[in-house]
Amino acid sequence: MASPETLTETSDAARTLHRVFGYDSFRGGQQEIIEHVVAGGDALVLMPTGGGKSLCYQIPALVRKGVGVVVSPLIALMQDQVDALRDLGVRAGFLNSTQDFDERRLVEQEFLAGELDLLYLAPERLRVESTLNLLDRGTIALFAIDEAHCVSQWGHDFRPDYLGLSELHERWPDVPRIALTATATKATHAEIATRLNLKDAKHFVASFDRPNIQYRIEPKNEPKKQLLELLRTEHKGDAGIVYCLSRASVEKTAEFLTANGITALPYHAGLDARTRAEHQARFLREEGLVVVATIAFGMGIDKPDVRFVAHLDLPKSVEGYYQETGRAGRDGLPSTAWLAYGLQDVVQQRKMIDTSEGDDAHRRRLATHLDAMLALCETVECRRVQLLAYFGQESTPCGNCDTCLTPPESWDGTVPAQKLLSAVFRLQRERRQKFGAGQIIDILLGKKTSKVIQHDHDSLTVFGIGTELTEPEWRGVVRQLLAQRLIGVEGDYGTLVLTDASAGVLRKEREVRLRREPERVAKARAAKAARPAPVELSAEAAPVFERLRAWRAAQAKEQGVPPYVIFHDKTLRQIATESPKTLAELGTVSGVGESKLAKYGQQILDTLGGQGS
Ligand code: ADP
Ligand code: ZN
Repeated sequence: MASPETLTETSDAARTLHRVFGYDSFRGGQQEIIEHVVAGGDALVLMPTGGGKSLCYQIPALVRKGVGVVVSPLIALMQDQVDALRDLGVRAGFLNSTQDFDERRLVEQEFLAGELDLLYLAPERLRVESTLNLLDRGTIALFAIDEAHCVSQWGHDFRPDYLGLSELHERWPDVPRIALTATATKATHAEIATRLNLKDAKHFVASFDRPNIQYRIEPKNEPKKQLLELLRTEHKGDAGIVYCLSRASVEKTAEFLTANGITALPYHAGLDARTRAEHQARFLREEGLVVVATIAFGMGIDKPDVRFVAHLDLPKSVEGYYQETGRAGRDGLPSTAWLAYGLQDVVQQRKMIDTSEGDDAHRRRLATHLDAMLALCETVECRRVQLLAYFGQESTPCGNCDTCLTPPESWDGTVPAQKLLSAVFRLQRERRQKFGAGQIIDILLGKKTSKVIQHDHDSLTVFGIGTELTEPEWRGVVRQLLAQRLIGVEGDYGTLVLTDASAGVLRKEREVRLRREPERVAKARAAKAARPAPVELSAEAAPVFERLRAWRAAQAKEQGVPPYVIFHDKTLRQIATESPKTLAELGTVSGVGESKLAKYGQQILDTLGGQGS
């Protein structure tokens, strides 16, 4: 039974949701989390990107007495976050190293005068005694610890600062703490609870499904061309992120896209800080821009309308893949997560693990992570089911991933596997030689290349025994045997070697199931890819939406904020579709709160060509 007190607090929360944010109802676990924190409880929240974590601390901060102190490592984004809140009529400020003394002083004064609802802090600020003293002199509504996975050993550069946060509780025992992360693995979850001293906190674990993201993993043939095809056919004019492993391929891919008429900016650790900041800012502020980046890019980027995330290289782990793809579609509109993956990826990553620093246990962990990622790539089952299972969540086939849309077949690849392994075996045994996949495949196909002749490989008994498959098909076989660890790879040249498990195949003791060869799947899929975008605007609404977008772009430019800070696409779409005639009608659109209605309502009605009331 809820006490009368909680009831009013609950409706305070609901009222704030409606009045400030312009939303009708809470999503997922939001209500429960908010009630818990409003009532003074500690919380540990695991919710996917785009799930709506911010409201979980912003609303309690508004409802409770005092200032909500938000710890976030993403200082480059604080200004935007604060601008967005101010546009909603929320009194927000931040303290970080980008400010000069006067700017900091001003925020500190606002804090002490009780003129702030939310104060964003970089974690290192809390290791400075003067900041702690400042907080002592004000009233704190709650501590929100964003990106809480930063405390984990797999976390990041911010770890030492985050570990210090465990002391918040000792200094302010009565102030509720809410830690939030989009990292879902059990290990990280447990580590956050321990390190942040949140053992007694209530844990809220949301579903990690992102139903609006379509997962697709495609064999890598000519990756840049495949990418261009995807952008041209399905994501014209859309904002997106392309991930590459190396700085060099980041640069090359960005150049390639730009040369083909798609504005693409590189982002990697080799660029100076100013260029990086500038490219990030342009990505946030301009519409339809593509960033080509190493994984250094994207944490905390809360741009809601990223329509696609493309990987040109294999991510090192399922966690990484999930985090990176999760940056697509935070606004809930249909988005694509696309990955091109090939034999070379497996060879390269295995090599990186072999030569990585650290002890054997560390290398084994890296190998386990890679294996899970490979299993996701090679699965013939629903990608989403497998992805969610990795995070311990059960689900049923989704209908919105490549394997659901174009079910791949599996086939009995035992005989080809035996042929391939025996070619490797013969070379190793009879010639004391090791070669990479290219030469082995040439031998199986009976190709008399100069390298084959030079090494007298055409006299091997296995020469020409594999003509039933094409070269790309053989590469698919090698890739999958590598993924299943039925063959190994070593050295700088990626030479193939037998593993303990190879013997079982050679001795015909085990069957090898393989995914139907890539090319055919790719063709089958191309036919489906032509499907129209699921949320087309009507013929009348489309030009209205464009007018609203133009209005928004002008506003954003004038204020120096990203367009989505003014209104999300989703809100503009709804306005274009419903075509409200009065301010009161406009106020019912999701995403139009009191402050925005007052500020922009009339301009929107004018843009729509209607009469304001
Ligand atoms: P996260 O931090 O978990 O990635 P955000 O807090 O940025 O997610 O929220 C994702 C998007 O969903 C934002 O655009 C936010 O405004 C919107 N949103 C959050 N909660 C609601 C809600 N209850 N109703 C409608 N939209 C919501
Ligand atoms: Zn599926």
